[in-house]
Amino acid sequence: MPLLVMKFGGTSVADLSRIKNAAAKVKTEVERGYDVIVIVSAMSGKTNELVGWVESTSPLYDAREYDAVVSSGENVTAGLMALTLQEMDIPARSWQGWQVPIQTTSAHAAARFVDIPRANMDAKFAEGFKVAVVAGFQGVSPEGRITTLGRGGSDTTAVAFAAAFGAERCDIYTDVDGVYTTDPRISPKARKLDKIAFEEMLELASLGAKVLQTRSVELAMRYKVRLRVLSSFEDTDETSGTLVCDEDEIMESKVVSGVAYSRDEAKMTLIRVADRPGVASAIFGPLAEAGVNVDMIVQNISETAAGHSGATTDMTFSVPVNQVARARKAMEEARATGSISYDELVEDTDVAKVSVVGIGMRSQVGVAARMFAALAAENVNIKVIATSEIKISVLIDRKYMELAVQALHDAFELEKA
Ligand code: ADP
Ligand code: ASP
Ligand code: MG
Repeated sequence: MPLLVMKFGGTSVADLSRIKNAAAKVKTEVERGYDVIVIVSAMSGKTNELVGWVESTSPLYDAREYDAVVSSGENVTAGLMALTLQEMDIPARSWQGWQVPIQTTSAHAAARFVDIPRANMDAKFAEGFKVAVVAGFQGVSPEGRITTLGRGGSDTTAVAFAAAFGAERCDIYTDVDGVYTTDPRISPKARKLDKIAFEEMLELASLGAKVLQTRSVELAMRYKVRLRVLSSFEDTDETSGTLVCDEDEIMESKVVSGVAYSRDEAKMTLIRVADRPGVASAIFGPLAEAGVNVDMIVQNISETAAGHSGATTDMTFSVPVNQVARARKAMEEARATGSISYDELVEDTDVAKVSVVGIGMRSQVGVAARMFAALAAENVNIKVIATSEIKISVLIDRKYMELAVQALHDAFELEKA
């Protein structure tokens, strides 16, 4: 029997009537002859509420209990979706992660898939069940504890099931009708893309476009899953939404295909770090050990400052804003043990990252110049720059984020097909 994976995000299962609406879409596919694996998120807002409860109960919480609590939102929607389908006379049942079992690593709150053995679920399909409703976002560790995959992880559950079960397609139903040139909630001129290359989607996702979790795009690219993003609120067919696919399936390719942003960034600068061989490793080693996710890094030219015997330099790096305290602690500890020395640690928690992405950049020069000119024309000051083969990112004051996104969308003429 051909099989489809259909994933419904939080807003698409926000209440009982939306669950019914989603179930009707599943029913349509069952009537077309498909077996369906449905992946559900928690009702919108639920996971945030659960995270809040954990943090209020225990600020330095045990990550295993965090996962036990925050995974529960998906259990509710999985059961409700199965019941809704049964009411429509579709043979369906729910599956929590451990029942499949969805085997993951024990990295709580950021677990990765190890294996999804098919036997249990295949046996149920063979018995005549048409739909398996799986709680997204969760799994079980080798120690038998419940794990979660990181925020937005239900997308990754969907792609992993599509790969494991050889699904014809993996359809991600959400509250927008596809992937846009930028977040349509920020820029009214954002344009829906019919297709986007895996590499570009990967960059956009990792630079903040939360329409797909980064890891889901990675998995889809590796296992050649036909991945599609479409609206759960509209009538849809095989041609709806945005297909995430190989580069060579896309005819037209612009230099820049999208603009992404990430609001929750922070910039940290170590002032007058004693500059000697090994200094970068003495700084970033302890940060990595503390689990801090360093993104951009800039080291200034070293100079000899008053009061210092040798040369000193300033080292700036960016981290997610909720990791600033952890990063500060790691730096203060490294200074206390004498492995690094610096005069001051300056923190700027009011920054955002804005990035332009496009595979066309590989072969075109002048993209950075065009980007910086567009920002300069709006008087937006750039604090840090980072580039890779297909993206350019800048750190700017958070209050200019929307303005910068729109200016770049205009500068690269993204509203035009
Ligand atoms: P779900 O709950 O269905 O998983 P998410 O909120 O995680 O939905 O992701 C969908 C949201 O992603 C959209 O509502 C939109 O605001 C945001 N988004 C950010 N960048 C983009 C983009 N380039 N294209 C489409 N949506 C985007
Ligand atoms: N409910 C989880 C979250 O909000 C997983 C998901 O929706 O993908 O992060
Ligand atoms: Mg999501």
